[in-house]
Amino acid sequence: RGGQAPKEIPFAKPNSLTKVYAVASGKGGVGKSSVTVNLAAAMAAQGRKVGVVDADIYGHSVPRMLGVTGRPTQVQQMIMPPNSHGVKVISIGMFTEGNAPVVWRGPMLHRALQQFLADVYWGDLDVLLMDLPPGTGDIAISVAQLLPSAEILVVTTPQQAAAEVAERAGAISAQTHQTVAGVIENMSYLPCPHCGEPVDVFGSGGGQTVADALTRTLGTSVPLLGQVPIDVRLREGGDSGLPIVLDDPDAPASKELRSIADKL
Ligand code: ADP
Repeated sequence: RGGQAPKEIPFAKPNSLTKVYAVASGKGGVGKSSVTVNLAAAMAAQGRKVGVVDADIYGHSVPRMLGVTGRPTQVQQMIMPPNSHGVKVISIGMFTEGNAPVVWRGPMLHRALQQFLADVYWGDLDVLLMDLPPGTGDIAISVAQLLPSAEILVVTTPQQAAAEVAERAGAISAQTHQTVAGVIENMSYLPCPHCGEPVDVFGSGGGQTVADALTRTLGTSVPLLGQVPIDVRLREGGDSGLPIVLDDPDAPASKELRSIADKL
């Protein structure tokens, strides 16, 4: 669309009723995408209109985790996002061939994100979740520029080393003047398969440490929204495309994820 001015982002309008959350983490592998898709599926199951932008451009995994098989279609000037489990999803993975790696620089990432937000027909959403890449890179800055009202959710594990990195990811909101809606601790413990006692595989306290540190840095209360246990079915649900909150709603991990979704 060479030469045309970028379209307006509906979520950036002052009268937008859509809550936008950018899900961030300090490092990869802490379960940011798993948490994002389960929160989205839980919200959709409650009847909320939900969209997910897979903004983890290099590590896109949301379509698989949500079992999205369709591709976006184009109607007039708009991109129609595929829908799975009642969640509308758009991902850079839908525009690449096979499992081709994405090798893009900052300005192209910014443009892709702008298109995901403005050129995709989202309809009236109650909630838009954006799965950010780990760390404090270009995409986080782009989100802050394109959608200053987006609130940040920080995902961390209980490990203190991970918490320190997560704290930095949350603290950029001080510079971007964004709100941190809260911290989600994932992989908090493993219920022992034999006796049910919690095993602290990754230590403990990381989520609270990040919430306390961000509360100090930002000068406003940042809550720890929940602690999601390790559950083999959560990983399996990510691989099969049926999120655990739908597959086994009574699992402790599902209950915790639903309780977090209720707070958002
Ligand atoms: P990130 O988005 O932070 O890189 P992912 O969501 O891709 O992390 O999770 C990393 C791996 O850990 C995936 O294989 C996922 O299925 C698994 N995983 C995440 N959270 C849990 C959990 N609570 N219990 C079991 N496995 C989990």
